[in-house]
Amino acid sequence: MTDRMTEPLAKALGTRSAGPLAKLGVHTVGDLLGHYPRRYGDPGKLTDLGGLALGEHVTIVAQVRSATVRRMRNRAGAILEAVVTDGPQQLSLTFFAKGPGALRYHEQRLAPGRLGLFTGVVGVYRGARQLAHPDYRIIGMDDDAEDTESAVLEASRPIPIYPASGSIPSWKIQPAVRTVLDPLREEDVPDPLPDAVRERHGLGTRLEALRDVHEPYDVKQWQRGRDRLRYEEAFVLQAALAERRARAEAEPATARPLRAPGEPGILADLDAALPFELTRGQREIGEQVAQDLARSRPMQRLLQGEVGSGKTVVALRAMLQVVDAGGQAALLAPTEVLAAQHARTLRTLLGPLAEGGFLGGAEHGTRVALLTGSLGAAARKEALLDAASGAAGIVVGTHALLSENVQFADLGLVVVDEQHRFGVEQRDALRAKARTSPHLLVMTATPIPRTVAMTVFGDLETSALTEIPAGRAGITTHVVPADNPAWMDRTWARVREEVDAGHRAYVVCARIHPDEPGDDAPRAGAEGDDYDELPDFLLEDGTADERAPLRAVLEVADELRAHPRLAGVAVGILHGQMPPAEKDAAMAAFASGEVQVLVSTTVVEVGVDVREATVMVVHDADRFGISQLHQLRGRVGRGSAPGLCLLVSTAQPGTPAATRVETLARTNDGFELATVDLELRSEGDVLGAAQSGRASSLRLLRVVKDADVIATAREDAAAVVAEDPGLERHPALRAAIADQLDPEREEFLERA
Ligand code: ADP
Ligand code: MG
Repeated sequence: MTDRMTEPLAKALGTRSAGPLAKLGVHTVGDLLGHYPRRYGDPGKLTDLGGLALGEHVTIVAQVRSATVRRMRNRAGAILEAVVTDGPQQLSLTFFAKGPGALRYHEQRLAPGRLGLFTGVVGVYRGARQLAHPDYRIIGMDDDAEDTESAVLEASRPIPIYPASGSIPSWKIQPAVRTVLDPLREEDVPDPLPDAVRERHGLGTRLEALRDVHEPYDVKQWQRGRDRLRYEEAFVLQAALAERRARAEAEPATARPLRAPGEPGILADLDAALPFELTRGQREIGEQVAQDLARSRPMQRLLQGEVGSGKTVVALRAMLQVVDAGGQAALLAPTEVLAAQHARTLRTLLGPLAEGGFLGGAEHGTRVALLTGSLGAAARKEALLDAASGAAGIVVGTHALLSENVQFADLGLVVVDEQHRFGVEQRDALRAKARTSPHLLVMTATPIPRTVAMTVFGDLETSALTEIPAGRAGITTHVVPADNPAWMDRTWARVREEVDAGHRAYVVCARIHPDEPGDDAPRAGAEGDDYDELPDFLLEDGTADERAPLRAVLEVADELRAHPRLAGVAVGILHGQMPPAEKDAAMAAFASGEVQVLVSTTVVEVGVDVREATVMVVHDADRFGISQLHQLRGRVGRGSAPGLCLLVSTAQPGTPAATRVETLARTNDGFELATVDLELRSEGDVLGAAQSGRASSLRLLRVVKDADVIATAREDAAAVVAEDPGLERHPALRAAIADQLDPEREEFLERA
């Protein structure tokens, strides 16, 4: 193998060509060959000039209609004005110079009837769109064809249109690509696809594919090349994930098998005491997890479950299996509110079983320790001691669990709740606290379409809880226009009715203080605990700045306390800037019914479980993301009384924001919502910012559209890695993995 691909462009092309390319993040021969055309111009077909957006850098195929040079009227200098057309529409091109002579060259080249490629930033002059000083190339004239025949052939080829910039137009990239591509031989271009895989799918070599996309003779050819390179992206990514899975599985873990049937234990005691029947899904996934835990390699499982599907019990049963087998389990939650609630829930579910070592505790009891950043010194010391001695079989906490002075006697299982808030470092830090690699159960309530799961969580095996336990009355969702006083009044009237019926209501606002701008609403939490103040706004419609300011917790709470509809109703507040003890008190008051309406930030978004809550009012709902609204809605209708979700919106009909809230009102199905969400967002949002710029490794693959490609590549990659886990016989694949999954991106995949 040679290293042609890593050769700097300054060497391959000279510094004059390499300079502008470097501005596009293209530094080596390999980078340039990986700078695929964004699309292809058809020389027989003109670009629709009606579709050009102001301010955009465009490359168009158009026909020259006229070109005239004249002196300027009001000042010195000359102007060449050319008009190009796509048939019905036209666009003007302007060039300026000191005198007409300097413009004659362009005038001659821009002869009426000629076809050209024109590139520049779309501007406007006197109401008409134009390109000022565009770069251009006349088709059939500026190609380096040697005779008429090849000129005709050349002129009919698809025109690769590259992602370009002001400093380098698309057609200057094309010859640069040719310069480096033409002399390459097969051995210069390592192919990460194993021959067997390639042959099975009838795919060409990597070099062939590069020629196909950069120098196609017809549409079929570039499509063939693009398909092959797209498959390659999927394959390399899946191979990387398969390798990571294999590496994790090769680590030893302590087996924590179930106790034999009939043998007493804390899990058996819990099952006997559960106040409800497990759903079929809970039983099935429970069995799967039980088997995973019994193996001497670490479980790596992702449990997806619809909001309210009962993931906590599944996790608790897994934790108790580990406790029965002599180990400990850690449960990580993303916020203090949620950690405290988990500890409460587990203690309630366990009852006397959670009083191990105390008088009156059950025989097989254990203890649930809660460790958060805000504990007082004494409580903290006790929790630390319980974790280190093993007296606490279950340790619940936030990031505080990860700090170095937290020790476990024998950590056997790590459960991460609401995974999307946790990164790889956190997982690793917890892993490092165990003697052998602990088993890992990751839970997420954000439904993830299958292909995204395969791409983003490809190193985890996935189970899904799709049923909601019986006996829930369901949730109705309505969109309430914020500027309709009658509807707003009806909203508070409904809240009143629910409160009078003994129920409770959440009112969610996007920010805390009315006088602080929403976008930089402070990230609260000195403990580094709270992400909760910032809703994940999706501003792709770009209109947010002109809208009314966001409603704020403190302001709305005051309004509701004075609202005639809510006279006599206790209104509380909850947000991330409150001291932890106040947060706990606020949640407890709401849970007990002392407070009936809780005005809160999105701190209640994940996992909060108050069964009497039946109404969720979300202010500025149009500014939240779909999955976040779905999470918020999941906070109500958890008991036997029906839930009501009122999405107060200022979105104009027809905007993506309006579509989001309407979709929420239409369906409760988390998987359907996740799919709509993906359709509404751009790919970059799905996979994150790592997609833009040089670090990007997914250039052609679209996670939503290319589901089949990803599935096939996953199978192929798994087989290759199974046969050759170290990829000793696939050095090109190994190199591609190392190269494409650079640390930044790998970290991102873990975090997404
Ligand atoms: P999530 O999956 O959203 O985390 P939880 O685990 O918080 O859901 O469960 C939601 C509620 O459903 C809890 O109050 C829990 O006690 C209850 N629950 C869980 N499983 C069942 C079941 N099989 N039958 C009835 N209620 C259940
Ligand atoms: Mg939960």
